[in-house]
Order: sequence, then C-alpha cells, then structure tokens
Amino acid sequence: MYSTDALNQVTTVAEANADHVDAAGTFPSAAVDALRGSGLLGLVLPEEVGGLGAGPRELVDVVGKLAAACGSTAMIYLMHTAAAVCVAAAPPPGAPELLSLMASGEALGTLAFSERGSRSHFWAPVSTGALSDDGDSVKLRADKSWVTSAGYADVYVVSAGSTSGVAGEVDLFAVPKSVGGLSVVAPFTGMGLRGNASSPMALDATLPVGLRLGEQAAGFGMMMETVLPWFNLGNAAVSLGLAGAAYAAAVSHVGGARLEHRDESLSALPTIRAQIARMGTALAAQRAYLHSAAASVSAPGEETLDFVLGVKASANDAALTITESAMRVCGGAAFSKHLPIERAFRDARAGAVMAPTADVLYDFYGKVATGLPLF
Ligand SMILES: Cc1cc2nc3c(=O)[nH]c(=O)nc-3n(C[C@H](O)[C@H](O)[C@H](O)COP(=O)(O)OP(=O)(O)OC[C@H]3O[C@@H](n4cnc5c(N)ncnc54)[C@H](O)[C@@H]3O)c2cc1C
Repeated sequence: MYSTDALNQVTTVAEANADHVDAAGTFPSAAVDALRGSGLLGLVLPEEVGGLGAGPRELVDVVGKLAAACGSTAMIYLMHTAAAVCVAAAPPPGAPELLSLMASGEALGTLAFSERGSRSHFWAPVSTGALSDDGDSVKLRADKSWVTSAGYADVYVVSAGSTSGVAGEVDLFAVPKSVGGLSVVAPFTGMGLRGNASSPMALDATLPVGLRLGEQAAGFGMMMETVLPWFNLGNAAVSLGLAGAAYAAAVSHVGGARLEHRDESLSALPTIRAQIARMGTALAAQRAYLHSAAASVSAPGEETLDFVLGVKASANDAALTITESAMRVCGGAAFSKHLPIERAFRDARAGAVMAPTADVLYDFYGKVATGLPLF
C-alpha cells in the first residue's frame, strides 16, 4: 500500500508548479523529484525489487490525483509506470539492477513506441533491428515521433521491428540514456500537457542483446498483454483526473460568481445547473467504469478485454465533453485563465489521440463485440 501522505506531498508540489510548467512549457522537475523520493515510482512493482506491490486500483487512484494537480506530471508518471511493468515482465539480463532502480525512483523510465512511419499504430514499428554475426549485439535504428520525458528519462523502452526479420514481429529493448546515438530531435511544444517533453527522438545505436526484454519477437505480445492494460487504465485515469478538476472548479465558480443586479449566483440559472448535472453524472459514471475496469484487470475474466479496450476511449471522450462544458458554464472567467479550467481543457485533448487512440479502440472494441479478430 502506498502512503497517502507521500502522495499528498507530491500533489502539493505538482499543483504549486503546474501553472508555471504549463505557461513556460518546462518539464515539471520539482514534481518529478518529489515523485522520485516518494516511493510512488515503484507503486506497482514487486516488493522483492523495492516496489510497493500495489495493483491497478491503486494506480488509477494515484494517477487521477496527480492529474488533478498537474496533467503533465501525471502523464510522465504513467509513462514511467508503463515502462516499468514492461521491464518487470521480462527483466533484461544485461541490466540486472534496472528494475530496482526504477522502483526506488533512481531511474525514470518512459516508452518510445510511436514512430514517424507508422504513426499511432505503435504495434507496427517500421524501425529495424539487426543482430550482429555473433548474436551478442543489436544495431538499432529508430525514428520515434513522440517520447514523453525525452531527454529527462534515464531509461527508454524502445520498440523496433524484430531481429527475426519476420514482418509484423517486434522486439523491445531497455535503452539507457547514456547510450551513444540516442538523441532528442526537436523541442516539444504542445497545446496541452506542455510540461511533458514529448519530443521526437532518433536512435542509431549498437546495444548489447542483453538489453532486450524477453525473447526475440516477444515485443508484440508484451505490448498487448502487459503495456495495454496498465496504460489504458492509467490514461483513462489521467482523463478523469483532469475532468474532475475542471468539474470541481466549475461547481465552485458557478456557486460563487454573482449577478449582482439579480442578487443571485450563476447557479441560479437552470441551464447552468443542467450542464453541471450532466458533467457530474458523466464523471460519476466514468469513475465507476474505471473502477470496474481496474478490478477486472486485477482479477482477469471474460470481460477484461472489453474493459481494457473500452475504458480509455470512453474516459478520453468524456473528458473532452466535461472540460468543454466546464469552459462553457464558466464563460469568460474560464477563457481568460482566471480559473484552472482551460489548462485541464487543453491537457484533456491529448488522451484521445494518444495511442491506442480512442478511434482505434472503438474499432477494436467493435471487432471483439462482433467476433472479428483484432488484427
Ligand atoms: C502529449 C502526448 C504524449 C505522447 N507521449 C508518447 C510516448 O511517451 N511514447 C510514445 O510512444 N508515443 C507517445 N505519444 C504518441 C501517441 O501515442 C500517438 O502515437 C500520436 O499522438 C499519434 O499522432 P499521429 O499524428 O501520428 O496520429 P495518426 O496515426 O496520424 O492518427 C490521426 C487520426 O487517425 C485516426 N486513426 C489512425 N488509425 C486509425 C484506425 N485504424 N482506425 C480509426 N482511426 C484511426 C486516429 O485516431 C487519429 O484521430 C504521445 C502523444 C501525445 C499527444
């Protein structure tokens, strides 16, 4: 179990810095340092490696609270966790200490899956890996389009076309930042999550084969079975954390903002109350869906795949609607940045376009529902 005091300390730092991080587009170093010292970077890692041994339900709680404080910090945390569960699933023999370092907070991780060539279809990297003649090393060339914490992470879980040479097969590698040939190609400037440092990166390096996660060609399976459940739950939690923050700010604003000539607050307007009700009920429904999905991933059953595919898309879209309604009911006060709503509105735009994108997930969900294969 994690310490709520430790989480509160992190969220306090994250919230205090969130506006500056957003305005300047800078990496939230203070919040990430607080995370490193909190034990939370090892939240879902096994206790044997120094983690806290928590599960999906705790992850969605922690991520949601971080997102309500600072969306960028929450996404950086989620990408670390997604990388960490990958490393935990198949610790690389060439880096035996890596998982402990990720659990203790010494090593911040991230995923480098998306590529310029295959765009959001992360399961189909066009980058290549080639084994050396003696089989001890791999020459890796990759053109990654978005890597959260680019230049700040200590280890990158990188996908590439498998050294098997078979089309559609994927390898994953844990690439330390120190490796020569790994570089940030351009700065990140986004409309939201502006502290993410989600820059493009290039990799042209020779790595020991011992940095591979799992056997040759095990990458696709790890993406689908390990990364997808944790990432989709966490990404849904980011969306709902942002939506919850916008909702709370909107409720507070419409209750307090006065129409002095009528001696009443904005909440006296029925249209405003109806919008608030729609936001509140949508949020409650999405939170219940997320908690059911997290419970299902904790104890997998027949419906788990539906939950994994549906929860991210559904929460992403709900966050778009709820943050937009919050902007609407708070009028110019939200537009002019008097309220912490427009940052949540901008940050919430990312969820639906982060892979697997909401559109792809709806397609996958529909395929499962109608008995078609996913790929
Ligand atoms: C803030 C942020 C942080 C990110 N961080 C990371 C990271 O750390 N690591 C990482 O690997 N990636 C990361 N990404 C990349 C992300 O996961 C996606 O790969 C990327 O956003 C896709 O953008 P694109 O322009 O390539 O989309 P495209 O693939 O060009 O998609 C464009 C549109 O087409 C739709 N579409 C595509 N294929 C289908 C389909 N089969 N069916 C229906 N609709 C489809 C999409 O839903 C989308 O609406 C990040 C992205 C953002 C925005």
